[in-house]
Amino acid sequence: NGIVAIVGRPNVGKSTIFNRMIGERKSIVEDTPGVTRDRIYGKAEWLTKEFRIIDTGGIQLADQPFQEEIKMQVEIAIDEADAIVFVVSGKEGLTPDDEYIARLLQRSGKPVILAVNKVDNQQLNDSIYEFYALGLGDPIAVSGVHGIGIGDVLDAIIQSFPKETRKEYEGMTRFCVIGRPNVGKSSLVNAILNQERVIVSNVEGTTRDAIDTPFKREGKDYVVIDTAGIRKRGKVYENIEKYSVLRAMSAIERSDVVLVVIDGETGIREQDKHVAGYAHEAGKGVIIVYNKWDTVEKDEQTMNKITKEIRTQFLYLSYAPILFVSAKNKQRIQTILPEIDKVHDYSLMRIQTNVLNEVLMDAQLMTPPPTHNGKRLKIYYASQVAVAPPTFVLFVNEPELLHFSYQRFLENRLREAFSFEGTTLKIIARERN
Ligand code: GDP
Repeated sequence: NGIVAIVGRPNVGKSTIFNRMIGERKSIVEDTPGVTRDRIYGKAEWLTKEFRIIDTGGIQLADQPFQEEIKMQVEIAIDEADAIVFVVSGKEGLTPDDEYIARLLQRSGKPVILAVNKVDNQQLNDSIYEFYALGLGDPIAVSGVHGIGIGDVLDAIIQSFPKETRKEYEGMTRFCVIGRPNVGKSSLVNAILNQERVIVSNVEGTTRDAIDTPFKREGKDYVVIDTAGIRKRGKVYENIEKYSVLRAMSAIERSDVVLVVIDGETGIREQDKHVAGYAHEAGKGVIIVYNKWDTVEKDEQTMNKITKEIRTQFLYLSYAPILFVSAKNKQRIQTILPEIDKVHDYSLMRIQTNVLNEVLMDAQLMTPPPTHNGKRLKIYYASQVAVAPPTFVLFVNEPELLHFSYQRFLENRLREAFSFEGTTLKIIARERN
């Protein structure tokens, strides 16, 4: 479970390769310089390993000379990634800009995979040899457009990862605090860390430099992930919207539980939904923290009204508990860690197979699946195959017959039986053979 960054000068085909690796051909890649690309972060799966990919080319500085921009992109890649894919173009050949990037990468000590793109046919194969001069090992011939060589790049990525990836902060509960600027993320982290009986240790982040804060409370170990991202470290690019999204994404990936903070003073904004959406998609435990509760004018209905509004605005997060707090007045801050524990426990909960099957068979009997073209889904057997998020495989007659609404129904039954508060559930249908 690592992070891979793609770097290279403009127009070598970074985002084409990025899209190939995340298995998506939807986004339109144009061969024009300066085209804004939206997706810069994606998930790839290869040989049963999952990892994240960043297309650094999508993070751009306004009005900066090329060298500054590329330096920033390479710096981000070195900071964020476990392995780097350096894309050059076999069509244009080796350029001084490639050499400049290679020098920056050589100093990083990170594994670099050198991909020579635009090798669209056999005749171009020899064009890769001149890239040995970069001193980054064997170049791999690739054609992003035709999907050639992508598998070789993915193989090389997997090989570059350490053989045994020990879980970061083993045995500790890892959480992060995300939200748009000024919702009170730093204030909240500080309030949590300044509580009674919280002992902040000075052990630094083990894999990344001192951006995480480990602490102890009542014998339990926690880490707030990426608090420096909140504190703003003052590099030029840290104010770039896409970079802060990227940081939030990698903090989410590294966490067990995500606190999505909403500013009670301004109320829910569109951007809050995007932020929350990332946490949901990553399958992490999610808690909605409605902060600045002190500024809200309230009567006995207010909490209900706001809860309803949150439920309507964040439909996909119906499982997430909501906390109303004030970081400023330290109101209900002490409820946060117990809530994190609870959500974390639910995300790790395993349901015994016989109990699970009893619940699902009952559900199926009471509300049989609707028929489709005269055919009806039949669930034979279910099994929980993973935790975080809890993942259930249903062995059925025909997987296509499991429709969204019935899946939702089964999910609700599982929640009624086992709660699973704060965590998404994955339900997968497989054909019984
Ligand atoms: P961040 O950008 O999300 O980290 O937000 P900050 O923690 O820097 O807070 C932004 C502003 O909101 C600061 O002026 C804080 O003092 C203020 N703030 C944070 N939490 C609260 C709160 O619970 N109540 C009130 N009234 N203000 C708060």
